[in-house]
Amino acid sequence: MGNAKAEVPIGKQVGTLVVIGTSEKKSGHAYCRVRCTCGNEFDTQLFRVIHEDIHTCRVCANRKAALSQSSAYKNKYPIGTRFGLLTVIGPGISLLTRGAKKPNYYIPMQCDCGAVILERISKLKLGHNHKCRMCDHRDKSNIYSNFRSVDGNQKITRLYRIWSGMLNRCYNPKNKNYKYYGQKDVTVCDEWKHHYEIFSTWAMTHGYRDDLTIDRIDPFGNYTPDNCRWTTWQVQANNKRTNFHQPVQA
Ligand SMILES: [Zn+2]
Ligand SMILES: [Zn+2]
Repeated sequence: MGNAKAEVPIGKQVGTLVVIGTSEKKSGHAYCRVRCTCGNEFDTQLFRVIHEDIHTCRVCANRKAALSQSSAYKNKYPIGTRFGLLTVIGPGISLLTRGAKKPNYYIPMQCDCGAVILERISKLKLGHNHKCRMCDHRDKSNIYSNFRSVDGNQKITRLYRIWSGMLNRCYNPKNKNYKYYGQKDVTVCDEWKHHYEIFSTWAMTHGYRDDLTIDRIDPFGNYTPDNCRWTTWQVQANNKRTNFHQPVQA
């Protein structure tokens, strides 16, 4: 240790750094203390200073990277540029996110569903079917997402979600509840299946409320106007329990 300390070239300059002293840091290597022109002080391996393998502090390096990203990407994707369902809504920003070693350039975008997200520029490719994470998640388990019923705020309505959820349980083998519905031959009547408006009209004239869910009166029956009603989760849970506990295994 004594020898290593004696070799520290105090006053030596490398890039924005100057060696200011020895280091108490104990590790397999010899360290020294350096100060950056920004005022930041830190320990670094002695051989990196001697071989001029380091030139600046991490804060300054990140700032430089952020500045060069900002000038390189500033006008790359103007406001209004479309990527799938996403639209650029403002100038980008270089950010050092938690866990990242270097800053990345992000662009604020709005999805057609209304969600606003920051997307990493390196992920964006023109012509790709980009969408927000929520839309991506929904589309993967929803084959009925091509047309949507939206409210005044362009948000997908709860009733629409109930309708598409019902169809997916019955007809989309990728839906996680398909095994309890489609696979058990539960179907949706033709008018409801092909016309959201007919389902919606039935719902509104048969007691739909935002706190109620659609319930099949006979839990082994299909989704038809005769066999459906709007109930609370509690009623529905009880209905399922009493009926499914009958020894009627198919
Ligand atoms: Zn610095
Ligand atoms: Zn979306």
